[in-house]
Amino acid sequence: MTNVLELVAQEMEKHKVAKLRSITVRYGVLSNIVADSLAFAFEVLTKDSEFAGAKLNLVKDELALKCRLCSHSFITDQKDYFFLACPKCGEEGSFEIVKGEGIFLDRIEADE
Ligand SMILES: [Zn+2]
Repeated sequence: MTNVLELVAQEMEKHKVAKLRSITVRYGVLSNIVADSLAFAFEVLTKDSEFAGAKLNLVKDELALKCRLCSHSFITDQKDYFFLACPKCGEEGSFEIVKGEGIFLDRIEADE
């Protein structure tokens, strides 16, 4: 979360905005992030800062995989994707993660 806030600070600096209204943070299902903890951290970190009062929007990214064999892309709720079989060609456990990992800053809304 601290890293995300550093990014926000950089962006605000870059665009010369004074008051942060809200930020949207996306996180993947594989990132082991608990939305409540993140929201709490955001509140604690922003409380006495220039970001005080800003709203945090959290968007969870589903796991999207791409089969290495046939290039078929699909979304799954199965986190143990290693044991999955490709819905198209049946190949098992050979996927590239398209979406669903990490945490990143998606959007910033601020007043000039
Ligand atoms: Zn496949």
